[in-house]
Amino acid sequence: MRSHLLNDMTAERYRRSVTEGVERVANRLATTRRPFTGVTPDQLAPVVSAIDLDRPLGDASAALDELEDVYLRDAVYFHSPRYLAHLNCPVVIPAVLGEAVLSAVNSSLDTWDQSAGGTLIERRLIDWTAQRIGLGPAADGVFTSGGTQSNLQALLLARQEAKTTDLAKLRIFSSECSHFSVQKSATLLGLGPEAVVSIPVDRDKRMQTVALAAELERCRAEGLVPMAVVATAGTTDFGSIDPLPEIAELAGLYETWMHVDAAYGCGLLVSPARRHLLDGIEHADSVTVDYHKSFFQPVSSSAVLVRDAATLRHATYHADYLNPRPAVDVGAPPASGGLRGRIPNQVDKSLQTTRRFDALKLWMTLRVMGADGVGQLFDEVCDLAAAGWELLAADPRYDVVVQPQLSTLVYRYIPRSVTDPALIDRANLHARKALFASGEAVVAGTKVDGRQYLKFTLLNPETTTEDIAAVLDLIAGHAEQFLGENLVHAS
Ligand SMILES: *Cc1c(COP(=O)(O)O)cnc(C)c1O
Repeated sequence: MRSHLLNDMTAERYRRSVTEGVERVANRLATTRRPFTGVTPDQLAPVVSAIDLDRPLGDASAALDELEDVYLRDAVYFHSPRYLAHLNCPVVIPAVLGEAVLSAVNSSLDTWDQSAGGTLIERRLIDWTAQRIGLGPAADGVFTSGGTQSNLQALLLARQEAKTTDLAKLRIFSSECSHFSVQKSATLLGLGPEAVVSIPVDRDKRMQTVALAAELERCRAEGLVPMAVVATAGTTDFGSIDPLPEIAELAGLYETWMHVDAAYGCGLLVSPARRHLLDGIEHADSVTVDYHKSFFQPVSSSAVLVRDAATLRHATYHADYLNPRPAVDVGAPPASGGLRGRIPNQVDKSLQTTRRFDALKLWMTLRVMGADGVGQLFDEVCDLAAAGWELLAADPRYDVVVQPQLSTLVYRYIPRSVTDPALIDRANLHARKALFASGEAVVAGTKVDGRQYLKFTLLNPETTTEDIAAVLDLIAGHAEQFLGENLVHAS
């Protein structure tokens, strides 16, 4: 069994089996036209269950053959131009190359003695990102598993920096379109059920700052403590960007932590055409970025950035075996720029211990393509969304919600012959399901004011307006078929 360990003796075997695995995926990508086969859980579950995990095949080729049946054939493929559903991206090749390298070397980014150069590469990328945001000379941060963890860590820091330890008094302000991980974080952080104050949005789904000001004032008047204002730069459903400069001003006025959740909108940091949409982000105390959304990176690749490196001390704990307390405790870990003679242990800044070297994927991407290269891809999908909006707005079959700032479109099929909104809801739901079952395209759904809508999240630069038009026709077809059947039954 030692022959399966990666070492100097097995290097050739490693080369061969990785090549074969890559070959299989490349063939899949070259031959898979649809995003999905439409397989159901009932069809696939028995195939997976039938595998006897206690009877190994002993051979990588045989295992790859088997993998065709249990996974590769029926996977949902984000590289397909007709995968238009969630915030998933096709990945860029330099990042996949980075993935192959980091998994094989298997560095762990918690301590210097488990990563060496990996630690420095991660720190460079944190500094690079902080600089793009404009956080200033004391900034720092750390890679995380995703936006959910980044938001949790940011709000943990905000809680520790708040002016009271009475958790019941703390309030977080975020728009009604903010990500559910804000609510989840509040609960995990021990805040009360009323902790997250939901601020209404305007017609464009951006936080209403007048309402925010009123809520902050009310909070103060009631003797409560504003802990954080969370501005979303790219809401998950609409891609809308909250008014960052106005929110920053209010956060300053009420001496409150400003967190910007740019999990989706972070791609604008490298956009040659749209960087200005993030103006004001430089005032943030913390920022969430998901490179695995708008930087075309494989899952997972995310980071949390902070204006003041010293605040990361709230995540610092010491273990004798790992990162012992320094003989002379110098307090906060230093900013990533200057090491000041201390061993750079990233675990001092992270909620995780053993941690993937995800930074390498972004490093390879920037070294091969450059920031502009990534940003151009993101600009392309934003342009596509703008063109898609024109299509939808001109199409009497559809109601489209907001003109996109980023790359999502939320819309609903509205048949001419039907007025019952509940039936229209069901027709839209049916169309989404039927489309998924056909495997011809994958779209998402969401609710707007209680009604069922459909959603395109466009993150594939290969998708064209023709694809969008074709998928809209497919949806209309499925919805009409459903209505045909159900109206016959009703009458
Ligand atoms: C996706 C998303 C998150 C969560 O990020 P994960 O990487 O999925 O954990 C947080 N906030 C926003 C605005 C998002 O779109």
